[in-house]
Amino acid sequence: MRPSSAPEGTMKPDIHPTYHQAQVVCGSCHITFTIGSTRPELRVDVCSNCHPFFTGKQTIVDTAGQVERFQKRLERSTRL
Ligand SMILES: [Zn+2]
Repeated sequence: MRPSSAPEGTMKPDIHPTYHQAQVVCGSCHITFTIGSTRPELRVDVCSNCHPFFTGKQTIVDTAGQVERFQKRLERSTRL
């Protein structure tokens, strides 16, 4: 005998977040795909379509412009 009063195969009401078929939008390769999530929409910087681990290509994921800043600094220092 189960301690819960819920019948077999049902979820207890009012304790679960709403389950959505969420649209995931990738900021790097701009594809969208659908997953199950508790949020209706997700935005990601890198996804399984464009992440170097899956593509096998080395790409720099640089959302804050840090690489650009470093290269400018490097350029300045080599000119001196
Ligand atoms: Zn992507």
